[in-house]
Amino acid sequence: MVEFLIDKERCIGADACGGTCARICPPDAITYEEWEGKKVPVADTEICMKDHGCENNCPVKAITILPPRSDSRDF
Ligand code: SF4
Repeated sequence: MVEFLIDKERCIGADACGGTCARICPPDAITYEEWEGKKVPVADTEICMKDHGCENNCPVKAITILPPRSDSRDF
């Protein structure tokens, strides 16, 4: 079971970062919801392929995917 943890305070919002996490997710598991005036990610963990791309490429390190993976994808 994969867990998608988002630090909503740390996330700068999809409009500010260009929607990095959703843009790079191969199965399109990430959508956004409005929170405190910004768009923060929500993940469908049923279709997440667990490559940790969003976690590794978020510019402010707002995402944590559990369990950790040592050979995760980076760009
Ligand atoms: S979690 Fe990171 S990559 Fe995703 S919207 Fe927030 S700042 Fe951007």
